[in-house]
Amino acid sequence: MEKVIIYRDNCIACGACITYCPYGALIPDEEGKPILLWDRCNDDFACIYVCPVSAIKRASQAERIPVAPWYRLSSREFETELKRWLGSLSDQDKDIIKLS
Ligand code: SF4
Repeated sequence: MEKVIIYRDNCIACGACITYCPYGALIPDEEGKPILLWDRCNDDFACIYVCPVSAIKRASQAERIPVAPWYRLSSREFETELKRWLGSLSDQDKDIIKLS
């Protein structure tokens, strides 16, 4: 699973991604900005297409990894899988740094 990265600093809290995710994988925080329920994301990517400010990217196309987490788990059952995914993002981050 590729999943998505959310650039919360760019988000204008329009709510479109939350409405359009067919898996209910995005929930609003107290500011109305989306948080990804990581284990519910099934790579539909509807959120990317509806975002008016390009605040969501496929993980493979992320330019940078946000410092503050943009995800949560809905069940601890997926913790190991999430850690593995985060590890793969770090490698990607290193590659981006190497290229720049
Ligand atoms: S669609 Fe984009 S701008 Fe709107 S809430 Fe989602 S991430 Fe934020």
